[in-house]
Amino acid sequence: MTPRTASVVVIGGGAVGCSIAYHLARRGVRDVVLLERETVGSGTTSKAAGGIRAQFGTEAEIRFSLEALRVLESFREEFGADPGFQRIGYLFLVSDPSDLRGFETRIVLQRQLGVDVRVITPKEAQAIVPALFVEDLVAAVWGPQDGVAGPAEVTAGFARRARELGARIVEGVETTGLTLGPGRVRGVQTSDGAIAAPVVVNAAGPAAARIGRLAGLALPVYPRRRHIFYTEPFPEVPGPVPITTDRASGFYFRKEMQQLLLSPGDVQDTGDDLVAPVDWAMMEDVVAKAVHRVPVIERARIAGGWAGLRPLTPDDHAILGWAPEIEGFFLAVGWGGHGFQHAPATGRVVAEWIVDGRPSMDLSLFDPARFDGRTPPLPGEGPDPGSPDAE
Ligand SMILES: Cc1cc2nc3c(=O)[nH]c(=O)nc-3n(C[C@H](O)[C@H](O)[C@H](O)COP(=O)(O)OP(=O)(O)OC[C@H]3O[C@@H](n4cnc5c(N)ncnc54)[C@H](O)[C@@H]3O)c2cc1C
Repeated sequence: MTPRTASVVVIGGGAVGCSIAYHLARRGVRDVVLLERETVGSGTTSKAAGGIRAQFGTEAEIRFSLEALRVLESFREEFGADPGFQRIGYLFLVSDPSDLRGFETRIVLQRQLGVDVRVITPKEAQAIVPALFVEDLVAAVWGPQDGVAGPAEVTAGFARRARELGARIVEGVETTGLTLGPGRVRGVQTSDGAIAAPVVVNAAGPAAARIGRLAGLALPVYPRRRHIFYTEPFPEVPGPVPITTDRASGFYFRKEMQQLLLSPGDVQDTGDDLVAPVDWAMMEDVVAKAVHRVPVIERARIAGGWAGLRPLTPDDHAILGWAPEIEGFFLAVGWGGHGFQHAPATGRVVAEWIVDGRPSMDLSLFDPARFDGRTPPLPGEGPDPGSPDAE
């Protein structure tokens, strides 16, 4: 039975929404209700490659990633579940000298914040992944402390602890409207009745702009499709393999058990219906990119694949904070290709914002008002986000 009142309603039970519900409950907020139209973790979180890298270009995002690495390290103690965390590292393969200069600038900041990251030679990259073709590279960038974890396990862990701490997580119930008073939100309408609440959090992933429109807000969150294909067991590329991204083509891969995960690094507008069917023609694209970088993959067989929507913003930074001019409406949206890894820190800072009145760190990077009064360019057409698109 869906409650009729709540102190906070969180819309969306992905990694982001579940982390927010958990942190609110942990901070003692009672009557938190999370609404998920399907099941917890079934949204775009279920499509993520699970990567966590501290190799971002801004202080806030680097700190968010470092927090994720810390949380995952001790996840089992706090959440009683194995998050499948492995520090396999992130390896960027660079063939363009100007691209390398961008990495070098970011590395200065990353190191100041305590990240272990270094530029290595193509031959050193080949020593990490012997199957790589490296003749056309100028360098590689190696972050040995980065890693991978299971999005399903982590999201379920947040949801379980949130429930234990008193939050209500309601699955199979869709938010269909927002109840608005003059200048503020007063609750939500759902497929199972209305809920009165002074605070509503939009954590709806690729559906964030739709939820925004319910409040008359134009949120520049653009769902864009990306594919991942997987091979049959392929011992010719022995593990462990870091998340390895070929900057020239966008292709990335890693090992998952005995199989290889391969992504063409595509960014596709599939229209407004929020579904992301697999386009099997993309297989040709991924195989061409893969065989160039890892020639032995020519002998692998693709066993299947999936596609998901990454909720992109024009500058590739999330939108996090109170919605301008609608009191009580909080935005935690636009996480692009890094929402899984930034979910742990997001939950913590959103709880601080709501409980303490403000977050404990500078989050102006994510200011929802930064797009005001401008027609934002579409993803890929805006300024260089200054961070590699890696997932
Ligand atoms: C191919 C691919 C690879 C990726 N790899 C990585 C990676 O390696 N590392 C990383 O950090 N990130 C990665 N990502 C990005 C990551 O998946 C997302 O940024 C993250 O999952 C966003 O989480 P979320 O909770 O905001 O969204 P979601 O998981 O989509 O959660 C939102 C939820 O809201 C629900 N919802 C929507 N509308 C309503 C409504 N009206 N009422 C009720 N519920 C509603 C949905 O059902 C959904 O479950 C990848 C994404 C893709 C597609």
